[in-house]
Amino acid sequence: MNCLFCKIIAGEIPSTKVYEDEKIFAFKDINPQAPVHVLVIPKMHIACVDEITEENSAIVAHIFQNIPKIAKLCGLENGYRVISNCGDDACQTVKHLHFHVIGGAKLAEKMA
Ligand code: 5GP
Ligand code: ZN
Repeated sequence: MNCLFCKIIAGEIPSTKVYEDEKIFAFKDINPQAPVHVLVIPKMHIACVDEITEENSAIVAHIFQNIPKIAKLCGLENGYRVISNCGDDACQTVKHLHFHVIGGAKLAEKMA
C-alpha cells in the first residue's frame, strides 16, 4: 500500500519519533502549526475516522490512553488540542488515521 504514514512507521521515511509502542507511533509534524505539533497514529492502517468499526476501535482507546503521556513527553503542561481531520471538507491530506496533538501556546478559540 502506498501510504506515507505506513512508510514512516516502517522507517522507510524518516521522522522525529516522540513515542512508540507495539500498537501506535507518535512523531513531530513536518509543518508544525503550533510550538508543539505531534501526530499520533495507529500502526494498523485505518484510513480515517469514517473507517473506525467495532472490530478496530480498541486502537482508538489505546491512542487516547497514551495521549496524556505523549503530551507530557512534549512538555505540554498547560493543555493541548486533539484534532482528527476526516475527508475532503476537513482537508484530510494523509489517508491514514491520525490525531494531531497541538499546544505549547494559547491556541485560537475558533477551531474552524
Ligand atoms: P491532515 O491534513 O491529513 O490532517 O494532516 C496531515 C499532516 O501530516 C499535516 O499536518 C502534515 O504537515 C503532516 N505531514 C505530511 N507529510 C509528512 C511527513 O513526511 N512527515 C511528517 N512528520 N509529517 C508530515
Ligand atoms: Zn497507512
